[in-house]
Amino acid sequence: NAKKKGKNNYQFFTESLSKEATRRSLLENALSKAISNNEFHLHYQPQIDLSTGELVGVEALLRWNSPYGFVSPIEFIPIAEETNLILPIGEWVMKEACRQINRWKKLGLPNLVVSVNVSARQFHDETFPQKVKEILESEHVDGHLFEIEITETVMLNIEAATKKIEDIRKLGVKIAIDDFGAGYSSLNVINSIDIDTLKIDKLLIDHMMENKRSMSILLTIINVGKDINAKVIIEGVETKEQVQLLKSLNVIAQGYYFSRPLPNEELQSIWLTNWRKLID
Ligand code: C2E
Ligand code: MG
Ligand code: MG
Ligand code: MG
Repeated sequence: NAKKKGKNNYQFFTESLSKEATRRSLLENALSKAISNNEFHLHYQPQIDLSTGELVGVEALLRWNSPYGFVSPIEFIPIAEETNLILPIGEWVMKEACRQINRWKKLGLPNLVVSVNVSARQFHDETFPQKVKEILESEHVDGHLFEIEITETVMLNIEAATKKIEDIRKLGVKIAIDDFGAGYSSLNVINSIDIDTLKIDKLLIDHMMENKRSMSILLTIINVGKDINAKVIIEGVETKEQVQLLKSLNVIAQGYYFSRPLPNEELQSIWLTNWRKLID
């Protein structure tokens, strides 16, 4: 039977998928070796300023080629969080993003802000701001080219979060609130701290197309972002129709309409695309 064919056999894995606990423990075990086995890499998704047609930044998204094939971050990030593996993994992500900033610089490409996702567990680690500082220093990266995306769950402990955010912003590093508008405490969060970027959850743009009321909620959130001097990014823009609606609103768009997250070489090759053409 499949089991006899060995642990790395795909059929074995597929059969055991039915057993949630087995899959989970296989993934957990593989995840603990993923860094040393060089199984991680980053993809980068472009962010386009809809008023100028310019590429203004990229989001780094973690990809894992596990021994069992591709596993989505939606599945492995929560496992990494529960096991604390997110600490070394998150560090690897920040370092790799910095190394990529330097590779692009060497190629003479114009500067872009690169943003990385940081989970609550990672952010709440006491040494986090110091870690960020050390990584920027050891990789010789200007903090202004680096952005950290956190979600509003990080703000549940608002006092601790505020202090950390201040420390991180002192390094020149930008702070983005990710998935904004998808949770419960959105407005409270941005009321109490200085942030640089507001990333509006895909849910809002999806609903915008469906009815007028959702459209006015989206417009309100965009205005709030502008009032607090944040860059506003609309996540998950997929259609020309959505772009047309957003065009006059002075926002930045990120989504499959422009590009999926791409390996660095592929992003390089479309860097100088006339993005404006996709907007007009
Ligand atoms: P996120 O940070 O909100 O990232 C955006 C997700 O939406 C990405 O999924 C991206 O591929 C996807 N996306 C972008 N444009 C579109 C679109 O037009 N339509 C649709 N349907 N999806 C779009 P991905 O890469 O699977 O990542 C999922 C989540 O996993 C991320 O959501 C983030 O929360 C987490 N994640 C990814 N990389 C990291 C990481 O390095 N560290 C941590 N802590 N979390 C990460
Ligand atoms: Mg994100
Ligand atoms: Mg998001
Ligand atoms: Mg998300």
